[in-house]
Amino acid sequence: MAVNNEEKQQLIPHTDLVHKSLLQSDALYEYILETSVLPREHPCLKELRELTENHSQKIMATPADEGQLISMLIKLINAKNTLEIGVYTGYSLLTTALALPSDGKVLALDMSREYYEMGLPIIEKAGVAHKIDFRQGPALPLLDQLLQDENNKGAFDFIFVDADKNNYINYHKRVLDLVKVGGLIGYDNTLWVGSVAAPDDAPMHSFIMNLRGYVIEFNKYLAQDLRIEICQLSVGDGITLCRRIY
Ligand code: SAM
Ligand code: CA
Repeated sequence: MAVNNEEKQQLIPHTDLVHKSLLQSDALYEYILETSVLPREHPCLKELRELTENHSQKIMATPADEGQLISMLIKLINAKNTLEIGVYTGYSLLTTALALPSDGKVLALDMSREYYEMGLPIIEKAGVAHKIDFRQGPALPLLDQLLQDENNKGAFDFIFVDADKNNYINYHKRVLDLVKVGGLIGYDNTLWVGSVAAPDDAPMHSFIMNLRGYVIEFNKYLAQDLRIEICQLSVGDGITLCRRIY
C-alpha cells in the first residue's frame, strides 16, 4: 500500500472500515513499516508476505508490524511451547517458529491445510518446520481433544488466537485452561477495523458487520474476566493480550 509524498504531507485520515491500520493516517503507518519493521523483517517472512499478497484472502494475513510484536513477546516471556488457532498461509506461524528456541514447539490449528501448504515451502526454507505440529480441522473439537489429556492443561506459554471471531468466547473458555498461570494469550482483531466503536448504522462491509457484534461481546467478556489481566493494543487490527492470573 504505497503512499506518495503528497499524501504523506497531508496525513489524510482514513474513513473506510476495511482499513489495515487503525492509525490516524496511511502515512504514519507507512512510516512505521518503512522505518522500523520492513528493514528488520526476516527474508522468509518477506517472501511469505509477498506470496500471500497475490492470494484472494490476503486481507486475513497478520501485518508485519504485528508480527514484530508477536516475535518480541515470545522472546520476552521465553516461550517454548505455544499454540496458534488460525494459520492461513502462516505469517504469524513462521514469525512464532522463528522466535522460538531451537527446541521450541508451536501447535498450529486450522480448518484449511491448503492455506498452510501454500506457505509451507517457505517455512521449510526458513529451517523451522521441525518446530511446527500442524493439525487440520475445526479448532473447537481439536481443543477439546487436547483438554482430555491432563498433561496439556497449563502446558502452553503463549497462545495466539486468530480464527473465526464468532467463536472467540468459546476459544477463551478452552485456551484459558491450556495456557499456564502467568502465560500469555493474544486475541487478534479485537478492534475489528475500528467498527467496534462505530455507530450501528455506519457504512461497513458485510463481513465486518456480520461479526462486529461478536467482537464487541468478546471485548466486554474479557474485561469482566478476573482470571486474566488484559491489555488491548491498537497494533494491526487490535490485539488483546491476556495474562492468566490463576
Ligand atoms: N494468523 C494468520 C496469519 O498470520 O496469516 C491469519 C489467520 S486467518 C485471519 C483465519 C484462519 O482461521 C483461516 O486460515 C481459516 O481457515 C481459519 N479458521 C476459520 N475458522 C476456523 C475454525 N473454526 N477452526 C479452525 N480454523 C479456522
Ligand atoms: Ca488476524
